[in-house]
Amino acid sequence: MMATLKAARSKAQTKTTATRAALRTLPQMSLLLERDDVRAVAARHGRGLVTALLRSRLEEIRQRLLGGSLPFPGLADVVGDLASWLEREARERTTSTLRPVVNATGVILHTNLGRALLSEEAVRRVAEVARAYTTLEYDLASGRRGSRSSHLDRMLALLFPGRAFQVVNNNAAAVLLALNTLGEGKEVVVSRGELVEIGGSFRIPDIMRKSGAVLREVGTTNRTRLSDYERAIGAKTGLLLKVHPSNYKIVGFTTQAPLEEVATLGKRRGLPVLMDQGSGNLLDLEPRGIRDEPAAQEALEAGADVVCFSGDKLLGGPQAGLIVGRPDLIKMMRDNPLSRALRVDKMTYAALEQTLLEHARGAAAQALPAARMLSLSPESIESRARRLAERLAAAGPGGPTLSIRPGLSLLGGGSAPEEGLPTALLAVEADGLSASAIEERLRTFDPPVIARTGAGRVLIDLRTVLEDQESVVERALLALRR
Ligand SMILES: *Cc1c(COP(=O)(O)O)cnc(C)c1O
Repeated sequence: MMATLKAARSKAQTKTTATRAALRTLPQMSLLLERDDVRAVAARHGRGLVTALLRSRLEEIRQRLLGGSLPFPGLADVVGDLASWLEREARERTTSTLRPVVNATGVILHTNLGRALLSEEAVRRVAEVARAYTTLEYDLASGRRGSRSSHLDRMLALLFPGRAFQVVNNNAAAVLLALNTLGEGKEVVVSRGELVEIGGSFRIPDIMRKSGAVLREVGTTNRTRLSDYERAIGAKTGLLLKVHPSNYKIVGFTTQAPLEEVATLGKRRGLPVLMDQGSGNLLDLEPRGIRDEPAAQEALEAGADVVCFSGDKLLGGPQAGLIVGRPDLIKMMRDNPLSRALRVDKMTYAALEQTLLEHARGAAAQALPAARMLSLSPESIESRARRLAERLAAAGPGGPTLSIRPGLSLLGGGSAPEEGLPTALLAVEADGLSASAIEERLRTFDPPVIARTGAGRVLIDLRTVLEDQESVVERALLALRR
């Protein structure tokens, strides 16, 4: 017994001694920085970056030695290929992981690709307020402190006369703020058919719990009648909530009490009605064949006391959550300390103000990229696709085979899931390359081209490819040549 203990102890001793010896072989940072090859990397990428990389490398080796997962690195393990490792790492770190891509998927408000693109003028406004001091919270007329919440009031009042407004970080925050302000410690009545999940992380029941409101589900998944709401109302009720089921549709044997009726019920029982509209549609989409996205104004006209929606969906602006409604209720939201935590930056105000101005002017359909993409005809997309295919064919043999077929573009951003816009798709095939290999080659092109795959083919929808990006698509396709 004693003998084994002693042996174990001496083994541990040997290990510590070895570790200490190994730690001593780690080179000094200052010596490494003086090596010619390291200095050359520092000259290209900056001494600060190289020093930070070396420090993290040395620390990693130290940890592994102490943890016993690295038996005994010779100096060679640390500095062997040091310069090329540094060069690789420096390049990798200085290439942002947030980079522009070409969206060839045909999904206009692609959440993973950043939803709406800003108008040129909105981009200019963002740059303008980013590089100078601004009147963010300064009132020029009085020379006193102003309110950042007020910047959009003039513009929003043109679009929503008689209402008041609050703008927060996104629509999820808008719903959170509205529920917390109007429903904390109370019951919020909502139909089981409207307990939606948007994009995996936004779930009405979860937001409700965090807001401090108690969810009072009524009806069933496919059928909820006004009488269901009526029966659920009691002494604890604080709010009636309607949610636009943005990204799904229940078909078949269904009823949802319409907003008008729920709003009338709310008035009768003295309860505010909140509508989570999802996509802040201010455009008339019916001429484009989209009937599932009612305009934000319609919800207010239907009697909702407060409507909230996203800034970067059909509104065509930056990420934001807009809350529009009854002045007394909005004032309570502005006074809620959560508003401070959910407030937006000056760049968001600038972009949003410009976007709203385009809507107020009636110029949105031309100025906003998402609106322009929406109105492209399948014929114009087809002729662009045909010209692209011709240019590629003219570049000589060995290139990919392109064929044009009809298909559908999607609104995306959890909008009108059923309704697609007729488009012309370019199907891409290349000898010796599978569809997934082609998709990967396009995705890893610089700049990346994100395409769709369907029925074993790579499909390119030029609806979401900006005109000045078409040459990128062309080069990426040419690069598939054998
Ligand atoms: C998109 C959406 C949200 C979430 O909006 P974000 O701006 O992404 O936070 C909430 N509710 C509905 C109905 C939506 O469609």
